[in-house]
Amino acid sequence: MNTMHNNQKQDLSVATYIQSDPRNKKEKQRFKAIQRTVSSAIVLLCVMFLVFGGIHLVSANSSAYVLVADGKEIATLASMTEAEAAIDQYIENKSAEYGMDIVYSDDLEINKVSTAGVILSSAMEAADALDGNLHLMAKAEAICINGVESLYVPDEETAREAIDLAKQYYADDDSDDILSVTVAEQVSVIPTLADIDQVLPAEEAKNMLLYGCPDAKYYFVATEGETFAEIAERNGVSVESLKAINTVIADKDALTLGTAVALSQPAPMISVLVEKEVVQTQAIPYSVVHQDNSNMNRGEEKVISEGIDGLEEVTLRVVVSNGETVSSEQISATTLVEPVDQVVERGTKVVLSSRSFGGSGSGVVGWPYTGTITSRFGWRSRGWHSGLDIAGPVGEAIYAAESGTVTYAGWYYGYGNLVKIDHGSGMETYYGHLSAIYVNVGDTVERGQHIAALGNTGNSTGPHVHFEVRFDGTAYNPLDYLE
Ligand SMILES: [Zn+2]
Repeated sequence: MNTMHNNQKQDLSVATYIQSDPRNKKEKQRFKAIQRTVSSAIVLLCVMFLVFGGIHLVSANSSAYVLVADGKEIATLASMTEAEAAIDQYIENKSAEYGMDIVYSDDLEINKVSTAGVILSSAMEAADALDGNLHLMAKAEAICINGVESLYVPDEETAREAIDLAKQYYADDDSDDILSVTVAEQVSVIPTLADIDQVLPAEEAKNMLLYGCPDAKYYFVATEGETFAEIAERNGVSVESLKAINTVIADKDALTLGTAVALSQPAPMISVLVEKEVVQTQAIPYSVVHQDNSNMNRGEEKVISEGIDGLEEVTLRVVVSNGETVSSEQISATTLVEPVDQVVERGTKVVLSSRSFGGSGSGVVGWPYTGTITSRFGWRSRGWHSGLDIAGPVGEAIYAAESGTVTYAGWYYGYGNLVKIDHGSGMETYYGHLSAIYVNVGDTVERGQHIAALGNTGNSTGPHVHFEVRFDGTAYNPLDYLE
């Protein structure tokens, strides 16, 4: 559960610092600090040699000791002991003040000079001079996220506390059974040196982990007409992210001098994954069962008994990342109440129209229109004729030959305006050359329903309805099925 443990590096030795990449500026500073420690030790050894070796090359009365920080003389003290004590005291005070192990990252030397014309500094003056001239750093721990030093805390314990606080932030919901709380990123803690003002207490470190750095970095347009593309490339960010962050900037391809372009925006440094079990009750939808009724017309339906939803208790395994559900998987379900099927009766009876058209066929379909038959089904002089043509005046009512569902209503090549009705069991009827259509696709129509008006549209030589009866797509002689 605790990813920190596996990745902790305990090595605080000098070797760790030396092996570090010297291209990094901070690393260079560390390196300097080590060099300084070493050179101070050599100086001290020399002094000890001089003092205890009995070879008094200098008289205390004729020499003074100048503190030189990065080549700049900052204070002059009466003796080497005083000079060293001033530095030690200063660092000790700072360490106490910040509650951290403080080091300085500057080149600090103690140079012996002649006392002639020298004004000695008091211990307090020396401390003040150090304060203004030394760059202080703290021995701290870096929290690395996916291998990148992301923030600094005083010690390992604080690092662990900050990470635990961040986890707790998303894991404090006690209404569900929490299975695990982990951090998606690889988090490690390594000893480092950090600027003292960058070292954060646990609570602030937690906030950084959860919300990211609140201070956005800005780029200020240096050349009139600079573009997002140029700024993106120069700063190692994507044009897309610049656009997403800087929505207030209208013209992304010609920026005015001095425009502040945010390069980043606060974003969580880590993703806290909470895996939990959630138990909830939910409806079980009822099923619909059909029963055929030969006493009911085809196309008619009647609900015999209403369906009732059931109820079940389900256990879900849910994964939440920074408060947002990223996956949910059902691992078990217990039925509390069984659902009750809805029973629907479905008519199967083929109904003959009450209207009598006086046909000669089997009576499966009714006449769509009573008029003069001008062309029959089959071969004729102009070729194969797939239907029955019945002529009459434009605008006469065209009736559905049988109940069913409209599957086509509109222009269809040579048919002109066409209506197709599906009657089930593979049977369809077509009504062509219509002048108007009164039904829509999906409509349920009754046998004998007024569906359209007779016309002369499409490949037609005079007003008539072209009527087809098809089974499984093949046209048959309508007269064999008409009543
Ligand atoms: Zn025809």
